[in-house]
Amino acid sequence: MRVFILGDLEGTAGVVDFHQQTYSDAKYYEQAKRLATLEVNALVDGVLEGGAQEVWFLDGHGPGGIDYELMHPEAQMIIGRPISAPWGLDASFDAFMLYGHHSMGNTERGVLCHSWSSRTIANCWLNGELIGEIGFNAAVAGSFGIPTVFISGDDTAIAETQRYVPNIVSVMTKRGLSQTSALSLAPAKARELLQTGGREAMGKIGEIKPFSIDPPYEFITELLDEKAVDAKAKRSEVERLDSHRYKIVGDTLVEIAHHR
Ligand SMILES: [Zn+2]
Repeated sequence: MRVFILGDLEGTAGVVDFHQQTYSDAKYYEQAKRLATLEVNALVDGVLEGGAQEVWFLDGHGPGGIDYELMHPEAQMIIGRPISAPWGLDASFDAFMLYGHHSMGNTERGVLCHSWSSRTIANCWLNGELIGEIGFNAAVAGSFGIPTVFISGDDTAIAETQRYVPNIVSVMTKRGLSQTSALSLAPAKARELLQTGGREAMGKIGEIKPFSIDPPYEFITELLDEKAVDAKAKRSEVERLDSHRYKIVGDTLVEIAHHR
């Protein structure tokens, strides 16, 4: 079986601060990446125990969220930028997993919640519904017929995922208290649960249905900075809606991901 893990950094146990931990100039950035890598490795261990023959890991955190030197020897990594969906994902994969994710922007108590960019984007909508990376990427996998079988992150990221995949296997690394505070598991406990969760998720392949959203697609982005919309609106595929929002349309989510 082939497994594709899409990773982020905001859902890792112990990680709660943009400026101190997740931005590339943060004082504890290297430590945060190390914590994430050790969690990913535990997840990969579980996934292999559960029967995977091949594991791909995509580092989805903007400036990088993994210490590649410590990466699990049995996982292959998709690294570098620019990178956009479907990242090499195709119908030959059996399962899609979301590691270390965060809830969409403006989620109450959502630890490090944001939609794609904490610095530039306020909200996003897909076909009229608010959406973040979790829903969008699960739907990208679903468009290839691949089920999203695992999520780890804070309680709000898990609740968001369950809207799309009610029976998903989840590991809650922390309980959100605000966007920048949480009741967190210790890293060692999170790793233990990730290994068990990875194994359990492999057993759910076949039972969990792929999540998909029917085309055509209309994707609206609300930017924080009005001037940034001016720049976007110069592109032919972009339609400006008002001072802060623009829209793109497409027949596939891959197209949307390219242009949004
Ligand atoms: Zn991130």
